[in-house]
Amino acid sequence: MTGNTLDPYSDRYAHRTHGLAVSEIRALFAVANRPEVVSLAGGMPYTAALPLDAVGSMLGELVARNGATVLQYCAGQGDVRLRELICEVMAEEAITGASSDDVVITVGSQQALDLISRIFLDPGDVVLAEGPSYVGALGTFAAAEAEVVHVPLDSDGLVPAALEAALEALRAAGRQAKFLYTVPNFHNPAGVTLAVERRAQIVELCERYDVLIIEDNPYGLLGFDGQTRPALKSLAPERVVYLGSFSKTFASGVRVGWAYAPSAIRDKLVLLSESQILCPPMLSQLAVAEYLSTQPWREQVKTFRELYRERRDALLDGLDALMPPGCTWTKPDGGFYVWLTLPEGLDAKVMQPRGIAERVAYVPGIGFYADGSGQREMRLSYCFPTPDRIREGVRRLAGVVEQELELRATFLSTEPAAAKVRWPRGSAPGPELA
Ligand code: PMP
Repeated sequence: MTGNTLDPYSDRYAHRTHGLAVSEIRALFAVANRPEVVSLAGGMPYTAALPLDAVGSMLGELVARNGATVLQYCAGQGDVRLRELICEVMAEEAITGASSDDVVITVGSQQALDLISRIFLDPGDVVLAEGPSYVGALGTFAAAEAEVVHVPLDSDGLVPAALEAALEALRAAGRQAKFLYTVPNFHNPAGVTLAVERRAQIVELCERYDVLIIEDNPYGLLGFDGQTRPALKSLAPERVVYLGSFSKTFASGVRVGWAYAPSAIRDKLVLLSESQILCPPMLSQLAVAEYLSTQPWREQVKTFRELYRERRDALLDGLDALMPPGCTWTKPDGGFYVWLTLPEGLDAKVMQPRGIAERVAYVPGIGFYADGSGQREMRLSYCFPTPDRIREGVRRLAGVVEQELELRATFLSTEPAAAKVRWPRGSAPGPELA
C-alpha cells in the first residue's frame, strides 16, 4: 500500500471523492447541540409541533392493515398513489394538470439533487447557482467535479440582469451551463424569495440561452402570509425539473421527496435511482400517502407557518434591537433562515470560536459558496429554538460581534504594523490570540 499513515487507502479513491468535504453545518453539529448553546445553526424542522399521537396511531394502523405491502419493495419510480397525491400538493403552487407518470419519488430531495448531478454533470461542467447557495446542493456539484458559477441575489431573489451577464460571459468563453440551480422560495440560506415578476424573466433568459432549470422548492408552502407563488415549473414545464420534499411540511425523518421532470429526464432519474437504492422505502412512502389522505395536512402546514413566523419575529426584533451598526440582514417572508452580513473587517468563521465560548452557534457564510467568498456572512436559523431561546441567542451574538469590533478597533489603533500582516486564509489566529 502506498497510502499515508492516516489513511492507508488514500492512493486508491476515485477522483470524484476529492470534492467531498465536511460541510460547515455538519462540523458544527456536535458543539451546537450542547444544551447550554443556543443553536441558530441547524435547519431542523420543529417536528414536535406535529400531532404525534395521531401520527403514531396512523402508522400503527397502516402496518396492521397493510403490513405485507407496507413492509415490501415497490417500483423504482415510487408508489403510484403517493405520486398522484403529490400532483395535488404541487397544484398549490400553480402546477396544474401534473401527470403522476412524470413524478419520481426520492429519498428526500437530497437524493434528487444527487441524481440530477450524476445525470448531467461531467468533471469541469458549469452549474449556475445563486450566491449563496444551499450547501447540500453544492456538495453534490462538488462530488460531480463541476464548476459552480454564482449569480448574485438581492432582497427579491436571483437578479435577472446578473443571470444574463453570467450567461453572456459563458457564451463569450464558448461555454454552456448544464443547468441553473435555484431555490426560488424562502431561500436556504439567504431567506429571500424570487419576486413574481422576475420569475418570467428568469425563465425567458433560460429559454433564450437554452439552459435547463433545477427548481428546488422545499419551503414553498411555508410563506408567512399564507400565499403561494407560481412555481417556475408552471411557467415552462419542459424547461424545468422541479424538486419537492415533505421534510418541512410533514417530517424530515420520513425522508420522502420527489422530482417532477420532463419525460426523457424522468426515465434517466428512475434508472439511476434504481441502481442506487432499488426503490424508495415503502414504509415512508405509504406513511406520507396516508398522512396526506387521512390527516388535516393543510391545517398542519398552517400551524408550522404560524410557529415559524413567531420565531422569525423573535429573531428580527432581537437583531433590530441589539446588533451593532454596520450589520445588515435579510427579512424572510417564510421558511427558516436569515442571512446576516457583518461589518467590514469581521470574519464569521474567525469569530466562531468566540461565539461558541459565548454559547451561541451560527453557520459561517463561506460554506454556502463554491468560490471561498462569504467571509463576512452567516446563516441564522430560527426554525428550531423557542422564541425565548432565540432572543437569548441574539443577545449573545450581538455581544460577540461587539467584542470583535472592539478588539479590531484596539488592534488597528495600537498595532499598525502588525495589522498589515496578511494571514493565509483559514490560518488566521482568532483575534483573542493576536
Ligand atoms: N434543498 C434545500 C434548499 C434544503 O434546504 C434542503 C434541506 N435542508 C434540501 C434540499 C434537502 O431536503 P430533504 O432531503 O430533507 O428533502
